[in-house]
Amino acid sequence: MAKYQTVMLDGSELSVKKAAAFIRAGEVVGMPTETVYGLAADAFNENAVSKIFAAKERPADNPLIVHISDLSMITGIAAELPQIAVTCAKRFWPGPLTMVLPKTPNVPLITSGGLNTVGVRMPSHPVARALIDAAGVPLAAPSANLSGSPSPTCAAHVLKDMNGRIPAIIDGGECDAGVESTVICFEDDGVGDGAIKILRPGRITAQMLSEVTPDVRIDKGVLHAVENGAKVASPGMKYKHYAPKAKVTLVEGSARQFAIYVYKHAQPGTVCLVFRDTDIEGLDVPYIVIGDTPEEQAHRLFAALREADETGAAEVFARCPTTEGVGLAVYNRMIRAAAFRVVKP
Ligand code: AMP
Ligand code: MG
Repeated sequence: MAKYQTVMLDGSELSVKKAAAFIRAGEVVGMPTETVYGLAADAFNENAVSKIFAAKERPADNPLIVHISDLSMITGIAAELPQIAVTCAKRFWPGPLTMVLPKTPNVPLITSGGLNTVGVRMPSHPVARALIDAAGVPLAAPSANLSGSPSPTCAAHVLKDMNGRIPAIIDGGECDAGVESTVICFEDDGVGDGAIKILRPGRITAQMLSEVTPDVRIDKGVLHAVENGAKVASPGMKYKHYAPKAKVTLVEGSARQFAIYVYKHAQPGTVCLVFRDTDIEGLDVPYIVIGDTPEEQAHRLFAALREADETGAAEVFARCPTTEGVGLAVYNRMIRAAAFRVVKP
């Protein structure tokens, strides 16, 4: 892999122009979005896209999401645009929603992970939009972490994982959502306009999508581990994800049950992820607060997992989040970080 002197750029117009020049030259740039930071390259340029896979050490069959800044760009990417997709685009774009659609031959198979479909998203982050405009091409961009580790929610996280692997990172501050986009596909329900299936939950919740159609389904891979070799609706589901170096265990139940579990099982080197300070009041165990509401938890989750690693923790006990609303996205990431280890005290 090429070795780079990675430069940190600010979000100014001049910096965006510099970053766009890298992209036009077939290079990869770290880009802020409203979800997490992405590793962006020209989605139509096979060689450029191969550099994303190399920089992340990402398996070749895990597809990339293609980012656009204007709806007119979608015709070169998606071969078909069902009415329900148009409705979703009007309602949720720009924003953290990715739609899986049949791809045109313009989109190289390396971008789509070998699939004949492609995930498309129009981000709302002004720097991401400016970068797509300045590059003049749609940008393939997965999360800017090394494959398997927690997604980056600030430029420092990107630098930690990508230093020397890419030429530039644009620092656009902390990401707002903190979890990756909601990924959906469309299913024919035999009647009406069709159904929406959630392949990966995010800030756009099932409740929000049910304003478009009453038939919103959640793929079973969202909440459960996929069996080895099983066919999956979304390749990302089968990979180890978001995992810090520490062994993570989720604990179901109340704050009190969590505190009792921690009291019984904590060892030297155990760190807790709690919703609020009072969750382990009186216990002498280091802890990191991830926040009270599902929105706060989503915003802080990946940073908290990285912080846990920085303490050198061998083991992390975390309270099991709710699956309501944005909580489903938090739960989906945390059960993967925990390799599906959930205990009921
Ligand atoms: P990342 O950008 O790293 O969070 O990864 C994007 C994720 O979106 C992948 O891991 C897939 O799970 C999902 N995805 C992207 N394109 C498709 C597609 N064509 N079909 C199904 N899932 C997709
Ligand atoms: Mg990712």
